[in-house]
Amino acid sequence: MSIHADEAIVLSAMSYSNTSLIATFFARKEGKIRVVARGARSPKSKIGVGLEPATRVQAEWSMPTGKDLGTLRYCETISVFHHLWSDMEAMRLTGIILKTMDRVFGVHEGQEEHYEWMAVALEALDSGAEPGSIGALFMAGLLKKLGIAPEMSYCGSCTKKPGEERAAFDIESGELRCSRCELPAGQSVRLRAGSVLAMIEAVEVAPEKIRSLRFHPSIQDEMIQLVRSLISFHLGISLPVQKNRGQ
Ligand SMILES: [Zn+2]
Repeated sequence: MSIHADEAIVLSAMSYSNTSLIATFFARKEGKIRVVARGARSPKSKIGVGLEPATRVQAEWSMPTGKDLGTLRYCETISVFHHLWSDMEAMRLTGIILKTMDRVFGVHEGQEEHYEWMAVALEALDSGAEPGSIGALFMAGLLKKLGIAPEMSYCGSCTKKPGEERAAFDIESGELRCSRCELPAGQSVRLRAGSVLAMIEAVEVAPEKIRSLRFHPSIQDEMIQLVRSLISFHLGISLPVQKNRGQ
């Protein structure tokens, strides 16, 4: 048994018994953590309030050696992203970001750079940045931090540099194909004009620039589709299906 304390963002919380919750956190230094929050569903509990998804908390928990489920000992809210919950699109993208972090990382996995990247995206959504672009940027940047970002600076067949024309990305070979070159037989993602350059820009985006980039919704969708395909191919994880805008 060991005791841990860290800053964390709540990914999810679900009922465990009449009085308890199981909460999943992504902690700054400790990565993804699952804990039982005893008594959190009781009306008198101070802990339960802090377990809403996307809340930033200071938490303390115990973890039995070699186990994946700990016990929450203390949880104090540091900050709540209030504005997230007043905009439907920001809420929808917040849900995608939290679920993606939950799916991609196993318990005890994840580093401080992953925590920071999620926090930057949530802060941008909370500050009113365009939600769809932030979602696409978060996903593209996450690929980079997972070490599976696509090489898109030249066509893998004729080595031409991509411009504004349409192209395709071959998932299995990890190569881009320009519109003039034939696609290999395997799984590929078609990219319309502008998506290649948007993806190159998004993968390399610096945290302080994330709010200044905007992409057309059709390009956002293609970027997210490419990220989903790459995560599925490299990590064997299928990300939650996106609900369409406005639903
Ligand atoms: Zn080519």
